[in-house]
Amino acid sequence: MTDSQPSQAPELAPFRIEPVFTARVWGFRDLRPWYDRVAEGDPIGEVWLTGDDCLIATGPHAGKKLGALFQEEHAALLGPDAPVTDSPLPPQAESPLLIKTIFAREKLSVQVHPDDKLAQKYGQPRGKTECWYALAAEPGAEVAVGVKPGTTLAEIREGIRAGTLEARLNMLPVAAGDMIFVDAGTVHSIWPGSILLETQQNCDLTYRMYDYGRPRELHIEKSLEATKLATRAGKVAPRQLADRTILIDVGYFRMERIPVNSSRTSESLGGPGGKRGLAYLFAASGKARLTGAGSEPVDLPPRGIVAVPAASPEFVLEDASGLGEQLELIRITPNWPATTT
Ligand SMILES: [Zn+2]
Repeated sequence: MTDSQPSQAPELAPFRIEPVFTARVWGFRDLRPWYDRVAEGDPIGEVWLTGDDCLIATGPHAGKKLGALFQEEHAALLGPDAPVTDSPLPPQAESPLLIKTIFAREKLSVQVHPDDKLAQKYGQPRGKTECWYALAAEPGAEVAVGVKPGTTLAEIREGIRAGTLEARLNMLPVAAGDMIFVDAGTVHSIWPGSILLETQQNCDLTYRMYDYGRPRELHIEKSLEATKLATRAGKVAPRQLADRTILIDVGYFRMERIPVNSSRTSESLGGPGGKRGLAYLFAASGKARLTGAGSEPVDLPPRGIVAVPAASPEFVLEDASGLGEQLELIRITPNWPATTT
């Protein structure tokens, strides 16, 4: 039996989250082998893994929406480091990070997300900084990240009007395992050829700048207001530590790839000096099983997510992959924006 330590919130065991398959004109009809899913109607472009409408699949809160659980169990999920009162942002009553897998069969619109300041000007709690981790890529796959150096706002505006904006985009080749940072204000577009794991601030604001003539609504003025001509966006080199690889560690989020040779304890997943905050575990390949005192085992399926609350009891994570497969475990944690400047 474990000694129960006094803590501010009662324990909350890890739980699996049910993905939401979201239709997009540019998506795939057949998601196999990534997910056992074939769309009957519109193609699926985004699989939302931690959306506020995603259902909790396991444990005492099964059947509840993730956003509702964040409202009820804010402290148990996010821990003491999460901003509650001292932040310029309102309390986090929803998942701090929206994690998705992206299946692009056609080009996504060229778009810009506002930063926190601009989002708040328009009455929203936060903007959207994001990153893409390439789960797979075909030869020649590329994405648009920013505009070519020297491009002016007037040239972007003219490119939108004349239908020549593509020539202004800064294209990056994508290979499996690449990490690409896209901070708020960066003009960007995902093009076909890669399967991406996207982590972003949980924000709904996308200003569509250009859509290659497709008949969807554009938000040209707001997209230009949000555009920053120079940003920090681009490829991020992995940083190798003794027990993991840091894929990215910036304001808002950190992602790490953690080798699991048969099994790891919850403590070792957190790493030395690891803070007790929320972590999302994603299986990029293979699958895992979490077992711990006082809770039923929780399965982490391929390309699924298990949430590990800040107030989680100890557990052991085992590689439960089938023959010829190996678990590739990605751990995603929120980083809180600095509250002072
Ligand atoms: Zn985006």
